[in-house]
Amino acid sequence: MTNPLFPHPDHDHSGCTTNLMKFADRYCKQAGLRFTKLRRSVLEQIAASHKAIGAYQILDKLAADGQKLAPISVYRSLDFLQDAGLIHRLESTNAYFACQRNFNDDHSEAQLLAKHKCSHKAPLVFLICEDCGVIGEIEGTPIEGLIESVVRTEGFKVDRSQLEIKGICSSCQNSQINKL
Ligand SMILES: [Zn+2]
Ligand SMILES: [Zn+2]
Repeated sequence: MTNPLFPHPDHDHSGCTTNLMKFADRYCKQAGLRFTKLRRSVLEQIAASHKAIGAYQILDKLAADGQKLAPISVYRSLDFLQDAGLIHRLESTNAYFACQRNFNDDHSEAQLLAKHKCSHKAPLVFLICEDCGVIGEIEGTPIEGLIESVVRTEGFKVDRSQLEIKGICSSCQNSQINKL
């Protein structure tokens, strides 16, 4: 089953969060990564929505939950989660969001892990709704081939590639039409 890039605005997000945290647990165990309590709480804050959140907002939320932390601890957790591919960073706004592929995937564990791992190599393409803030994540193809052929011609060595496309999601467009 293919999931829509953008979740329905009225969907039950607790299901998404549960899926994502379950996946993170399994993934870290399989990859031999230490999913500490702090890393887990940082991911939980990020997974609370399909939107991006800044490091200081995460700090504030954790403080509200009674966890007073130094910014460096949160940044370290963010680095870990980013390296593990569990979250991504929007370079334009320096905010973090959970890898959208892990929210509602109903694939088997093996497929999930394989898909997740190969996603690290592909260019990351994000659709960012400037109205509601929700982020849709698309697989690198078909632009992957185009980028590859250009960089090969140029002899350019790619470190990472990320494309941020801003606009308005279809739900927000519809609600704007309804308001007119
Ligand atoms: Zn959701
Ligand atoms: Zn929107």
